[in-house]
Amino acid sequence: MSEHAGTWSSSVVKTASCAVGDEVVMLPDDVKPGGLIECHGIKQRVTYEFGAWALEKV
Ligand SMILES: [Zn+2]
Repeated sequence: MSEHAGTWSSSVVKTASCAVGDEVVMLPDDVKPGGLIECHGIKQRVTYEFGAWALEKV
């Protein structure tokens, strides 16, 4: 993790709802649509539509 104290507070934290559980997942700052993250031990694809991030099971 490389967090810069100055940029962290001023940047918008990207979040999406987990496709498996019901919790909100914080996405990496450099996340891109189509990227994969892992939650609940399951890989999930990141999507970005209408200004909102989402996760779907791969
Ligand atoms: Zn989850």
